Amino acid sequence: MVNKRKTQQQQEMPDEFENPSRTRQQLPGWLQKQDLSEADLPYIHPLLVSSFTSWQEEVDGFPWLGGDLILLHPDGTRISADIQTEENDSDFLSWDAGEIGPTAASTALETCRPTLSRADEHMHPKLKAFDSIAVPIFTRTTGFPCAIAACLLPAGTAQAGDLKLLQAAALHIRTCIYRHFENLFVGGLLRERKLSKKEESRRDILFDVMRRLNDHIEVENVLTEVLDSLEKLYPICKADLFLSQDYNSSNEKVKPLAFHLNDMDLCKSAFVDGKIREERIGGRHQLALPLSGKQGVYGVLRLDLPDTEFDEADIGFLSMLAAAAGAAFEKAKLHEQANVLVGELRLINELTQRLNSSLKLSDTMQFASTELLGIFKSDFCCILQFDKASQEFIVISANVAEMIGEAYSSEYGFCGVMWSTKEPIILSDYCSATPVSSHLMDVTNSRSLLASPLLLNGDVIGAVMIAKREPNHFSYDNYKLLQVLSAHLGLAMSNATLHAEVRRMVITDNLTGLYARHYLNERIGRKQTRDSSGSLIVVDIDHFKKINDTYGHQVGDDILIQVSGIIRTSIRDSDIAARWGGEELAIYLPLLGLEQTERVAERIRQRVEGETKPQVTVSCGISEWRIADEKISVESLFYKADMALYEAKHHGRNCIVVG
Ligand code: GH3
Ligand code: MG
Ligand code: MG
Repeated sequence: MVNKRKTQQQQEMPDEFENPSRTRQQLPGWLQKQDLSEADLPYIHPLLVSSFTSWQEEVDGFPWLGGDLILLHPDGTRISADIQTEENDSDFLSWDAGEIGPTAASTALETCRPTLSRADEHMHPKLKAFDSIAVPIFTRTTGFPCAIAACLLPAGTAQAGDLKLLQAAALHIRTCIYRHFENLFVGGLLRERKLSKKEESRRDILFDVMRRLNDHIEVENVLTEVLDSLEKLYPICKADLFLSQDYNSSNEKVKPLAFHLNDMDLCKSAFVDGKIREERIGGRHQLALPLSGKQGVYGVLRLDLPDTEFDEADIGFLSMLAAAAGAAFEKAKLHEQANVLVGELRLINELTQRLNSSLKLSDTMQFASTELLGIFKSDFCCILQFDKASQEFIVISANVAEMIGEAYSSEYGFCGVMWSTKEPIILSDYCSATPVSSHLMDVTNSRSLLASPLLLNGDVIGAVMIAKREPNHFSYDNYKLLQVLSAHLGLAMSNATLHAEVRRMVITDNLTGLYARHYLNERIGRKQTRDSSGSLIVVDIDHFKKINDTYGHQVGDDILIQVSGIIRTSIRDSDIAARWGGEELAIYLPLLGLEQTERVAERIRQRVEGETKPQVTVSCGISEWRIADEKISVESLFYKADMALYEAKHHGRNCIVVG
């Protein structure tokens, strides 16, 4: 009832109002003008009870008044003081039981006047023995009866003086009623004021939190901001934040949303419905607030606080805070995702540019492997190329030295899995669950694996494997990124391989498999700038024309192949054998002296004579260059060897001449 008046009075209430030292006389006029209205009547019983109790305490020692006076609500119910009084017959003065008929109290209420009613023969048997007196108690400004003070006196004893005395008591009771009314009114106002102050400060805090939340563009900061704000606002509250996404927060209060756990029912329904859920258990209030944005619910904020610390306004406030946090979280998350995407695009761009800038397979893959280690913050990286001829995966780049050059069958390990599925692999823990065994994982003691096949036109041409010692290292985003990178890596591998193949074709002679003449020239030219010496053997098949004429060109070709084979198997890896032109072949022997070169030539000569079918012989011309020579050039080296060969032909062929 009192609360109804709060708003209009709230602004008028001066601050000194809260000062408890003020006396009643000093009460401001506006307060004294406050009064009960008829609409308040149904609610004033407690006020009458407390006022009557006070009155009884105050008149203690005046037995006549204190003992026999009763107070009635205008609806006829008797106001029993909190103080236990002896039950007596006066109860029938209350007129809720209609058959009792009019008494002084009902007449006083009707007439609004003090009333004396004498005992009467026709009265109810219980009333016959009493005279009754009653005085209405009026409200102070609106002037309607808010209570009736009444009293029973032995029949025939009531005097006008008794009525006067009752009037005086009624005035006293009225004073008590208004004192209590003012206390109640002021208490109500103070409570309202306290609440509105609390709400005002909450609004300020919320505004502040929202502003700060909007300043953050990093998810981690948003989460910390939300949890810190809650801690400040509800210091004794226990707050946990459960997130649905695989997000690793450094904040210990941020946990993954695990519905299978026992105490997660409240959070589960809040998450599913996107609505606040609350529960009261044993004096505690548990709240689950969904953290939602426009695109969905990201998690649940769970609060646990004592009932005493919590009122309805808190729910409104907390739901606004959760909504602000959800929106900020979403914004930060989108921002992060956009950043990651931009970063990934930049990375892909840079990587492809770098991959395409070099066409040397080993260089390209070495570069890729180093980059991948950095991108995925991993410990090991291994790139394998699938060799069609042997049907094996061959390690062409790895930061595990012992693995380089290793070959694995197309069915072995994770490469085997990728060979058949053509799908990438993400493995959180090799130790706890692995479909196959893996040399890389075993050798490096790794537990997390991210791997992808390198595809070209749907065929597996290689594989990339990235490993980390710790388990659960790679995320789904990593998996998707590697998939994109692998497409580029596959292209780079194929380009480099094709390029190597083309180059091999360019520098190789088709028929004999030896190097082409221009490559030999190039190589000798380079050697002459770096080495201190080298020698050259020019080999010419004797009477080759006759072979062609006798057996035909096919056989002639075959002889060329036979002789080339003999040369290839008679020299060291560092020597370079080439087809110089027609049926003339040449071998460059870096850093080799004439004597040793002659021995090589002799070996070739003998083997050709002994091994060719049909049998042919060769003549050889040898030349050398030294750093001390006046003129060093490829041409002069060949010229000298050619001269020597010419001489060998003159000396009857099947022999060697050193120029
Ligand atoms: P010699 O060197 O002993 O003086 O006699 P030759 O008969 O080998 O002399 P020449 O250099 O005049 O002849 C080279 C012959 O080699 C001419 C050509 O028909 C033959 N020839 C050159 N290139 C090829 C080739 O690729 N295949 C075949 N079958 N014959 C070739
Ligand atoms: Mg010739
Ligand atoms: Mg010849």
